[in-house]
Amino acid sequence: MTGAVAPEVRAAQRRIVSTINASGKLNGDGLALWREANCGEWKATAADISRDLDLLQVPHTIVTAFRFPLASSYSKAMREGEEVRILRRDLPHLVPWMPSLEQTVTDIPEDAPGWDFILFQPRAEGMALAKLVLPTEWPAWSKKQTRAARLVCAECDYDLRDPEDETRLPYDVRLPDQPKRRRPVCGQCCNNGVDEMERLAALAGTSS
Ligand SMILES: [Zn+2]
Repeated sequence: MTGAVAPEVRAAQRRIVSTINASGKLNGDGLALWREANCGEWKATAADISRDLDLLQVPHTIVTAFRFPLASSYSKAMREGEEVRILRRDLPHLVPWMPSLEQTVTDIPEDAPGWDFILFQPRAEGMALAKLVLPTEWPAWSKKQTRAARLVCAECDYDLRDPEDETRLPYDVRLPDQPKRRRPVCGQCCNNGVDEMERLAALAGTSS
């Protein structure tokens, strides 16, 4: 960086570096900072973080992301919050302000999970892809949480987050009487979506 840096920019840098050190989460897609809604009394909100990143000219987005309740919490409700996200390709904008980040970013494994979870959706006209946007913590969810988030096979309870087994990719096969409700099923339990595609195609054929 050349020339003098304005004091408010330096202050933003200090806040961002300590926020990332305390609560930054890296994955294959980039860096995320999660904030519970209405946390402003105790720490920087997503909007505060966003303002600082604007001062540092680091491109970013804010998405709504729900987290599971803390184990110590009486409430069983999901905690609403926001994630400030910096795409991996934009992280070089952050490195001049936080040089230690450079090595950390280089060390992210190529097959690290990202923010999106891809589901195959059988349709009458063929197979479509649907993206579920999840909070950055999803790879660390327990089986119970994964079940609550409906990311296990509805038929055999297989954990659909596991990308290892290619015969058990996740398909969205809905019950005929609940066509609006997402229902993930593994490839083995739904014949890789082929049966559902044929059923929908037959249905579309008879109705036209
Ligand atoms: Zn299954």
